[in-house]
Amino acid sequence: MGLSPGFDAVVVGAGVVGLAAASELARTGRSVLILERRAGIGQEATSRNSQVIHAGLYYPPGSLKADLCCRGRELLYAWLEARGVPHRKLGKLVVASDEAELTKLEALIARGQANGVPGLRMLGARDTQIREPALAVAGALYSPESGILDAARFALSLLAEAEAQGATLLLNHEVIGLARGSGGWQVVVRTAGGEDEESLACEVVINAGGLASDSLAQAAGIDIDARGYRQRPCKGNYFALQASAGLRLSHLVYPVPPSPSEAEAGGLGIHATPDLNGGLRFGPDAHYTEKIDFGVDPAAAGRFASAVRRYLPEVREDQLVADFAGVRSKLAGPGEGFRDFVVQEETDAGAPGLINCIGIESPGLTASLAIGERVAALLQGRVR
Ligand SMILES: Cc1cc2nc3c(=O)[nH]c(=O)nc-3n(C[C@H](O)[C@H](O)[C@H](O)COP(=O)(O)OP(=O)(O)OC[C@H]3O[C@@H](n4cnc5c(N)ncnc54)[C@H](O)[C@@H]3O)c2cc1C
Repeated sequence: MGLSPGFDAVVVGAGVVGLAAASELARTGRSVLILERRAGIGQEATSRNSQVIHAGLYYPPGSLKADLCCRGRELLYAWLEARGVPHRKLGKLVVASDEAELTKLEALIARGQANGVPGLRMLGARDTQIREPALAVAGALYSPESGILDAARFALSLLAEAEAQGATLLLNHEVIGLARGSGGWQVVVRTAGGEDEESLACEVVINAGGLASDSLAQAAGIDIDARGYRQRPCKGNYFALQASAGLRLSHLVYPVPPSPSEAEAGGLGIHATPDLNGGLRFGPDAHYTEKIDFGVDPAAAGRFASAVRRYLPEVREDQLVADFAGVRSKLAGPGEGFRDFVVQEETDAGAPGLINCIGIESPGLTASLAIGERVAALLQGRVR
């Protein structure tokens, strides 16, 4: 299909953020074109994550991460329920291995409550073990609102909704240029073979390019260093537990984050995530990287097993199988502490009608519908 002129909005990127924004913009009456460089939707972060619906425990009160996670979670459960997308509200245990960690959990519960997360409570060692007999811990913070979902099916449901409202998706179309013209934007696109370049005009551009969102902002003429938009990709590996290990969990199980600043920077520790098919996966770890690659080194199994044994003492290295990896679109570099999501209309940076979604690491999947709402509100000038 060739490009036709006359779309109100071009959305760059068909991950959950781009698709949620497209669906919301189409619902509110705009004509929307989604451009995706890959051959399918949701092939980057959207399909390479823990698939956890976060409650909103970890983020500083008043931040976009806190607000969009909490709002997004509510919207997400309602969306998944209404459309029959597989999900389960399992609840989560953040487990403390000793007294010192119990004190850290008190701080985490206070932060979650400040963010308005419902139902949080502390459990003693015995009540934790009644819930999860395989755990050997000093106690836990219980978060009943946390859950899991099928992210691929969620992405498909977003696309279905966007298309039902009249949006168009073009796969194998990579945006390689964004230029501000009179009254709008000129978007230059290369098709998969690389031989064709086309361009089209639109009023507004939504940059939801994930790992490429900073370079897309730069292509639009924004000084990404001056604005603090340069991303620091950070890889996370996962290992799966062999079914023959016979261990099942009925909750998400997370260790206490290493320190408040590491939690704010997104390092939640290697956690245990049951999937919707009854399997169990451990991860992700966190390694800053220059190169985007999704391979998992099987030699890391020993390191994963010892991290997990702090709360699940029976797990052995030979029961772990290298599974998959994802790469976070982080704004905080090593040791830099908290950085918030950027979901921003860029008139101030000389780029009116450009909305940047940058640094959309976790909890971006949980927050995606709320990010879509915010994008639409920014375009209507209802929020800044
Ligand atoms: C290891 C890991 C674990 C995570 N766990 C969770 C979790 O449990 N819960 C949670 O809520 N969040 C989690 N997240 C975060 C969540 O996965 C992301 O926030 C979310 O998927 C971001 O979606 P996105 O649409 O912004 O990015 P993506 O899904 O990466 O989509 C960006 C899209 O843009 C396309 N694109 C890029 N450049 C161009 C271009 N020039 N032209 C056209 N298309 C382009 C890409 O091909 C891609 O499809 C995790 C992330 C990682 C990496």
